[in-house]
Amino acid sequence: MGKRKKAARKPGGGKMKVPLDTQFTCIFCHHDKSVTVRIDRKEGVAQLVCRVCDQRYQSKANHLTEAIDIYSEWIDAADAAERDAQSTRRPVASSSSSRPAAIPALDDSDDDE
Ligand SMILES: [Zn+2]
Repeated sequence: MGKRKKAARKPGGGKMKVPLDTQFTCIFCHHDKSVTVRIDRKEGVAQLVCRVCDQRYQSKANHLTEAIDIYSEWIDAADAAERDAQSTRRPVASSSSSRPAAIPALDDSDDDE
């Protein structure tokens, strides 16, 4: 009764597509093509790892995310982390709001009864 179609067949075009794994130069150990970016669009995650110095980075991915996006994101994150580590004294943004921004307007309430 319950015949299930298995959609396990891949559309084999004959030519090998460019593999999803893309390799870049590591910004930490500076090895060429040691960084691999793997994008899992199904899971919506992208993983970056350097096989030489074992640096890792994980980010979100969508259908538009390319390996280079993750790579540049990683550079930005590493750069920010480095800057953060260098500045021992972090300016604490204490945005303690002395005044409430949104004051509930209860002027219209008509106390009739
Ligand atoms: Zn590395």
